[in-house]
Amino acid sequence: MKNIILIAPPAAGKGTQSEILVQKYGYTHISMGDLLREVISSGSTLGKELKNIIDSGALVNDDLTIELIYNKLKTLEGKPFIVDGFPRTMYQALEFEKVLTKLNITEYVAVLLDLSKEEAVKRIDGRLICKCGKSYNIYQDNLKPKVDGICDKCGAKLEKRDDDNVEAFKKRYEIFQTNIEPIKEHYQKLQKLEIIDVNRSISEIAEDIEKVIK
Ligand SMILES: [Zn+2]
Repeated sequence: MKNIILIAPPAAGKGTQSEILVQKYGYTHISMGDLLREVISSGSTLGKELKNIIDSGALVNDDLTIELIYNKLKTLEGKPFIVDGFPRTMYQALEFEKVLTKLNITEYVAVLLDLSKEEAVKRIDGRLICKCGKSYNIYQDNLKPKVDGICDKCGAKLEKRDDDNVEAFKKRYEIFQTNIEPIKEHYQKLQKLEIIDVNRSISEIAEDIEKVIK
């Protein structure tokens, strides 16, 4: 299996697809947030340094980020991985190339989950949650409750999530699209870019991803 650099706008179903790949093919899922937490909780010198940076409210700089990724990939000893939410800048993308070269990793693909803004907004707007923790989406067939407005699992009335502010979401989506453009071109030039249309069902998307990682 090829290693995966996963690029996706918010609401593209990145978590769901990563989970499928982890379960089915034994990928290691590496997200920057998790990685930071992991290193900090290890209590190492680097972890302490990171904790100070984050506690002070500053951003972790690119070079440190690259170092974390490098250290993590080294421990995998050739097992397949998904890098999620990274690289976010061109500098990171170029430095990441160096890391891959250094570790002799050539079999990888940048998978871009392509979701139109209209569809992304619909997904956010259609989200419903139950107090038991289960979540639904009235615009996605496989995520719709069986009975309108009622939880399949516990029968309680479903509610709209109040943190799903559509305007804030639109802004996040636009920022993502602007920032990702040069990175997209970068992987296109390297002939590593695979664009997956995610305006479809979860299983159809998973099938397409499987085709490009084999
Ligand atoms: Zn429920």
